[in-house]
Amino acid sequence: MSIEHHCSVLIFLNADFKGVDLMKIVFLGSSHGIPEPNRRCSCILVEVGDNRYFVDMGLMPIEELVNRGIAVDSVKGIFITHMHGDHTNGLISFIDLCSWVYKTAEPKIFLPKVEGKEVIEAWFKVTGTKSREFDYRKVEEGIIFDDGVLTVTAIRTKHCDVSFAYLLEAEGKRVLFTGDLFREPSEDFPKIAKEVSLQLAVCEGAHFDVEKYEPIFKECDIKRVIINHTAEWNFPHLQRLAANMPELGIKMANDGLEIIV
Ligand SMILES: [Zn+2]
Ligand SMILES: [Zn+2]
Repeated sequence: MSIEHHCSVLIFLNADFKGVDLMKIVFLGSSHGIPEPNRRCSCILVEVGDNRYFVDMGLMPIEELVNRGIAVDSVKGIFITHMHGDHTNGLISFIDLCSWVYKTAEPKIFLPKVEGKEVIEAWFKVTGTKSREFDYRKVEEGIIFDDGVLTVTAIRTKHCDVSFAYLLEAEGKRVLFTGDLFREPSEDFPKIAKEVSLQLAVCEGAHFDVEKYEPIFKECDIKRVIINHTAEWNFPHLQRLAANMPELGIKMANDGLEIIV
């Protein structure tokens, strides 16, 4: 089934309405490296039952949680695709507030370059913030996280020296986040998308003409596609891609878009 509410922009995708077990994906920031009207930099909140997770943190995440009435200590994992600022600039604010306000928050923080931790700690020395121990993990290829609710598999991409796509699985549903890619999909689209069926693929749209996704999508079993991290010059290409592949319900993410799978 598919229901769209255009005010709150909530889409139910093959949802079975069991209630707490659905995976909800909230696009908090959906722009590419540069903020645009109504689209801030990359940050996606994933909710499964009472647990929350982030894919990238390119904006102030705790402001979003507070505005939505979400407890900060419900955040169990933060999965950074790569270290570019439009994906990480909100992380320091998250760790800062968790250091001295939200002390019960214990998320596992996955960094493609774990030395980013030292940068954050050095900044806290400058600001005089009394930090505490956080569970930073270096991202390696393969399954990096399984809390019994959500499993996350990291897939190396070529976008920069160390970058990853993530496959999130919960309640038998699979969602792929490509992260930023290199040159074009034929060179860098995660091969795992051809090996498993996906309820949803969240694909970037800033580094190449998104119409180049079409031959790749034809080889994959994907139910629905959202183009995220989109550059404005790509809008006409996105419209043509959506028209060519109506079965995928291709849509561009704007901030506030929510999808339930
Ligand atoms: Zn980016
Ligand atoms: Zn990037």
